[in-house]
Amino acid sequence: MTARSQLERLQKLLKETLAPKLPGVEVEVTPPARWKRPVAVVRWGGFAGLLAEQRFRVVVSNIPAETFERDFHGLIWFELTPGEEIDDYLRMPRSDDVAKKAESLMASAMKSGLAGKIKEALGNDAGESCSGSFEETRRVLAGAGWSKARIEEFCLAAVGRGAYCDCEVIALLIPESAT
Ligand SMILES: [Zn+2]
Repeated sequence: MTARSQLERLQKLLKETLAPKLPGVEVEVTPPARWKRPVAVVRWGGFAGLLAEQRFRVVVSNIPAETFERDFHGLIWFELTPGEEIDDYLRMPRSDDVAKKAESLMASAMKSGLAGKIKEALGNDAGESCSGSFEETRRVLAGAGWSKARIEEFCLAAVGRGAYCDCEVIALLIPESAT
């Protein structure tokens, strides 16, 4: 079902769903061309500094699950900052890229005391004070002498294990701390 009227309906629905949550968001749903399925492009300044998979998480977590299943299932998604192109997004690294190193990255992060230091920075209610990014994760690992490239790999590995932000990294590394 990719009739143009159907895509226009989806575009309108997507914009109405996301606009209150992501101020200034722009949305475009286009017919299959480069891919066999219709494409949804979500443009938002707040995606800057986030990994591709973190961006998709932001979109999905701001659409009610039943709406996503019913209306948006089957689209190909791109979450871009205002200046980016789809090809920029395609070049972004993914958690799969570091799958083989994930185990040793986790072990090194634990050795660095990452979870405890993030907890210290975020305070008692980490879920509340978390910025939804890897800001503290990056800061702590940089302080422990990790290179920028290795920090990036750790963040990708965390995403591959279901941790998309600082408070989820705490829960990932200290499972019993999950609230
Ligand atoms: Zn968080």
